[in-house]
Amino acid sequence: MTFPNSRTYRLSSARIHSSLAPGLSLAADGDGFALVDIEVADGRIARIGAATNVAGGFGLHGRIVLPCFVDCHTHIDKGHIWPRQPNPDGSFMGALAATGADRAARWSAEDVARRMDFSLRTAYAHGTKAMRTHLDSVAPQEEISWPVFEAMRERWRGRIELQAACLFGIEAVRDRGWFAGMARRVAGAHGVLGAVTYMMPDLDELLDVMFRAASEHGLDLDFHADETDDVGAVSLRRIAEAAHRHRFEGKILVGHCCSLARQPGEEVLGTLDKVAKAGIAVVSLPMCNLYLQDRRHDATTPRWRGVTLLHEMKARGIPVSVASDNVRDPFYAYGDLDMLEVYRMATRILHFDHPVADWPRAVTATPAQVMRLDGAGVLAAGGPADFIIFKGRNWTELLSRPESDRIVVRDGQPIDAALPDYSELDDLMG
Ligand SMILES: [Zn+2]
Repeated sequence: MTFPNSRTYRLSSARIHSSLAPGLSLAADGDGFALVDIEVADGRIARIGAATNVAGGFGLHGRIVLPCFVDCHTHIDKGHIWPRQPNPDGSFMGALAATGADRAARWSAEDVARRMDFSLRTAYAHGTKAMRTHLDSVAPQEEISWPVFEAMRERWRGRIELQAACLFGIEAVRDRGWFAGMARRVAGAHGVLGAVTYMMPDLDELLDVMFRAASEHGLDLDFHADETDDVGAVSLRRIAEAAHRHRFEGKILVGHCCSLARQPGEEVLGTLDKVAKAGIAVVSLPMCNLYLQDRRHDATTPRWRGVTLLHEMKARGIPVSVASDNVRDPFYAYGDLDMLEVYRMATRILHFDHPVADWPRAVTATPAQVMRLDGAGVLAAGGPADFIIFKGRNWTELLSRPESDRIVVRDGQPIDAALPDYSELDDLMG
């Protein structure tokens, strides 16, 4: 298949999903798909309309076209350290300890920058156009990683819109002086204020400090909450209560919320009502959760998928996404920042089918809104011609094969989608 060698062309008989084409009234099939022609001119979508069967144009014969992906929760500062620092036992505590040791010993600016760039090239080749990464900001790492992030964001501007959130256990906020400096650093870098929350006696007080700092600096918030099977872990609810208390007007994204799936129904519904009322968005990290949660060391088999209650959340109008999270580091041994893989795995782990409904928004339009990216994650006339052409013509074809031969189109033109070779990082692996 040869792509049109022109700035202006028409893709005929493309199959797009109605949930990703706002404002278009199209006759969709039972899976939400519609056949359209897409006219592209000078890097933008000039027009989308029902397929006409008019001769000419670049015939897609019903192949699926999705808007480029938005990956709203990653850790590209940690990515690809697995060969030199594996998780000793596949547990969450093992991941924490291994990553901490690697960070202290090896995360120089060059080390972080090269692994980040490798991750960005990978994500770009798979069709991602925007990404939020968390940055381990435990002293003194913040002095190293934030400048690297700012340089990387510049280098990648126009290819991947890169955002960063600071990451540390929320107990670090007890050191008010250090935290005030951290908040200033994040604000200076136009980042997002983040932390890991878990149950501790002064959690509400620490959340208050974070919400006040976010309001003061005009920052959005992004938490890792309750990444555990402990039914007593209810920091998601505490975050929602803090949002009410502060009448917080920025955006709040909360990741993981695994324990919610282990709690009694009534308690869960109360929490979800508070989350919905506070306008909080939730991102589930299905691959990482499946790997770390319910990990057993007594030769028994895991019985829990680890993911949070996305269906119940969506039913309440809570914006829900799925994202990559960790890639080839002690928190997850695998992964490739491929959002098609994330969507495929989410379909299986979280049942994004029967019906598919508008779940495709969870890797596109919804995270784009959470990240305040206008016009990303949808296909619309007047919008950028940033999309992915797959081989699959329906969900079972799309989600059964890796689709490694997908065509990623950016600004109307196919990109060179070669993946970087792992051996590039060999000299960093010791
Ligand atoms: Zn994470």
